[in-house]
Amino acid sequence: MPSFVIKEKCDGCKGQERTACMYICPNDLMKLDVERMKAWNQEPDQCWECYNCVKICPQQAIEVRGYADFVPLGGNVIPLRGTDAIMWTIKFRNGILKRYKFPIRTTSEGSIDPYSGKPEPDYANLKKPGFFNMTEYPTL
Ligand code: SF4
Ligand code: SF4
Repeated sequence: MPSFVIKEKCDGCKGQERTACMYICPNDLMKLDVERMKAWNQEPDQCWECYNCVKICPQQAIEVRGYADFVPLGGNVIPLRGTDAIMWTIKFRNGILKRYKFPIRTTSEGSIDPYSGKPEPDYANLKKPGFFNMTEYPTL
């Protein structure tokens, strides 16, 4: 089942040119109707239900209905993403709610410096084969 937008909750990411769901979808499926300021999945049969848009939406306006063996018909699965954990709220069709919280990172947000300890790039070597950190991985 593809993702769909609950239009009452979507605020079009408050008028940003590129909404959060448009930014994150690996398949470029999400579109914004700029007149109504509501997003929509423009090609549902191409959606692979990765849940990226569901997780990133700041309004919790996107749902993916799970398959019957995963979530009984009428239920839903809503994630709430924090800086270091994600809370999944599972609603069953009989009204039962279950919540599961999982850590999503081991470092604090914004603390990773991917170039820490790496040599400065030498632009003179830009057109030569190899990587800027060949001294670190000389066998590559
Ligand atoms: S991320 Fe959520 S609020 Fe923003 S445009 Fe998409 S559905 Fe609407
Ligand atoms: S579930 Fe994944 S593939 Fe489907 S619309 Fe959302 S981000 Fe795109």
